[in-house]
Amino acid sequence: MQCFQFYLPTKVYFGQKASENVGKETKILGKKALIVTGKSSARKTGLLQRVEKSLKRAEVETFIFEGVEANPSVETINKGTKLAKEKKCEVIVGLGGGSPLDAAKGIAILSTNPGSLVDYFGRNRIKKNPLPVVAIPTTAGAGSEVTPYAVFTHRENRCIRKKIVADSSLFPKMVLADPELTLSLPASITADTGIDAFSHALESYLSNRSYPLSDVLASEAMKLLFNYLPKAMENPKEINIRSQVLYASLLAGMAIAQTGTILVHAMSYRLTTDLGLSHGKACALLLPSVCEFNLKEGHPKLTLLGECLGENMENMTIKKAAEKVVTTIKDFICQLALLQNLKIEKIKERTIEDFAQEIMQDKRKLASNPRQATLEDVIGMYKKAL
Ligand code: NAP
Ligand code: FE
Repeated sequence: MQCFQFYLPTKVYFGQKASENVGKETKILGKKALIVTGKSSARKTGLLQRVEKSLKRAEVETFIFEGVEANPSVETINKGTKLAKEKKCEVIVGLGGGSPLDAAKGIAILSTNPGSLVDYFGRNRIKKNPLPVVAIPTTAGAGSEVTPYAVFTHRENRCIRKKIVADSSLFPKMVLADPELTLSLPASITADTGIDAFSHALESYLSNRSYPLSDVLASEAMKLLFNYLPKAMENPKEINIRSQVLYASLLAGMAIAQTGTILVHAMSYRLTTDLGLSHGKACALLLPSVCEFNLKEGHPKLTLLGECLGENMENMTIKKAAEKVVTTIKDFICQLALLQNLKIEKIKERTIEDFAQEIMQDKRKLASNPRQATLEDVIGMYKKAL
């Protein structure tokens, strides 16, 4: 059997009311907390006030950093860090979608490490342990609550790029995954964030870095999302359905924490920075063409993958099986109405080439991708998607 290393040092509370543990659990990690949250959803639903109250009741002095935008910028992290340092915070509570959770991680890094966030872009660059992070996800998608990654938007001269910090010290100390917090998600964000989780699971499953235990997490996540994501859109207030989707997104996060993602995510970032697409939509656009490229010559788990998506793949040729899986994924994306009314302006040939050239520098992603991709292959996948 394949050798592997599995690391996941995050304490997970999962279930209804899990978020109510925030006071007593945060208290163990520090006496002064900074809550990092998004623009308005947590305040509107009253969640922010409840978390603040729970912390105060546990005698944790609490400060709030609100207004984290989608795909958080380095400037936002700098502002949050300034507040964390001024108030001498000892623990960071991330409350919201993937963006505030990643922002919490960025603030945690800069609160204990010198220099700028830019110094930590890449892998294993963090010298000192960041402040402990408590993650309370309110979307079911990014999985940041159980990953050692954080993604930031960095502007340099005229170039805007999404940059990743990957370091095992970035695993949150604790996650309070409470499906009740996802009940307020509108259908469009449910679909957007849910397809991100689905993409994590699928990419982990196909990755060259996958192994039997990561496959258990990834395949279960795929099955659950395939079944429950459309249901969550039809019945947004149904807590049992929301629970399944949040659970699946947690499993998918655990899977990529071990294996990383493949070309879908790598190729998606420029669609966000240059075309303004949300992270979920960018992944949804690329999923079919990247899957087609990776599956059409076969993949050892092709049949199993089809079965995760409810297809009977018996007696199918590789070609037919690959086509079936790609069609099923396209139909799934269609069912979620993710790309409906999406208008993408015609992109210049040169721009696509520029996107693809950048991917060719990402040796790690290329090595994780199950089929070796050339520059022409990446250009082809972009063209098919766009
Ligand atoms: P997000 O950018 O955090 O949030 C998207 C929208 O959802 C915001 O408008 C937010 O509003 C709203 N929202 C959040 N929770 C809500 C709720 N319960 N009810 C109603 N509205 C709610 O979206 P995300 O997809 O979760 O995160 C995307 C980010 O995560 C990207 O930057 C992506 O690169 C990153 N990511 C990170 C990892 C990782 O491992 N670290 C993995 C994948 C993706 P408010 O601003 O008002 O709260
Ligand atoms: Fe993602």
